Amino acid sequence: MKILVIEDEPRMLELLRRGLQDHDCTVTVAQDGLAGLEIATTYEHDAIVLDIGLPYRDGYDLVRMLRERGRTSPVLMLTARDSEDEIIRGLDLGADDYMTKPFSFPELVLRLQSITRSVRGRENGKLLIADLAIDPVRRIVTRDRKPVDLSRSEFALVLALARNAGRCVPRHVLMEQVWGANPVVGIGALDVLINAIRGKVDAPFEYKMIVTVRGEGYMLCCPAAATGVHH
Ligand code: CA
Repeated sequence: MKILVIEDEPRMLELLRRGLQDHDCTVTVAQDGLAGLEIATTYEHDAIVLDIGLPYRDGYDLVRMLRERGRTSPVLMLTARDSEDEIIRGLDLGADDYMTKPFSFPELVLRLQSITRSVRGRENGKLLIADLAIDPVRRIVTRDRKPVDLSRSEFALVLALARNAGRCVPRHVLMEQVWGANPVVGIGALDVLINAIRGKVDAPFEYKMIVTVRGEGYMLCCPAAATGVHH
């Protein structure tokens, strides 16, 4: 695998470089956000290992700018601590996975292989979760190749769920994705919107993808990830 590592801390950078090379990866490195962005937009990599705290442009900016520029290289974020807010924010902006420092190299390599595989169905920023296909640029959604007609807010919600497929997305994060940082609608509006989406995305199909995680939020499940989840 060709991996780009963007990390400003020299010892951590060296550790990552050597560890990944020992696992048969070809490693390119960048030590700040601007250099990282330049390399990531100029060259193709199988995956990017991204630190969050970086000079010039932080990891959040970087992943957002890469996705805005249509770059689909999978991104694994490294977080210093197990901060839920950091993780949610990073995944929300388009990162594919995260690991908390310290980490083990065998696990890091496995995770990188996994996000590299799952991203191949996402050419040109398109998302494919089981038979649900989403084109964020053209705002087209299909399930089992049949068009699903969604309103603007329904689309925003489906996209937020799809970008985190297999993970529960907290209610406040979904609210923010659909209605912005200071929603004028009440919390019940989210349930109304979810019901509307269920009617269009799930109702015609046997396999229900949208799962309620009681007291927390909602999750988009694909069949492989659905084991043990009750609807
Ligand atoms: Ca750092």
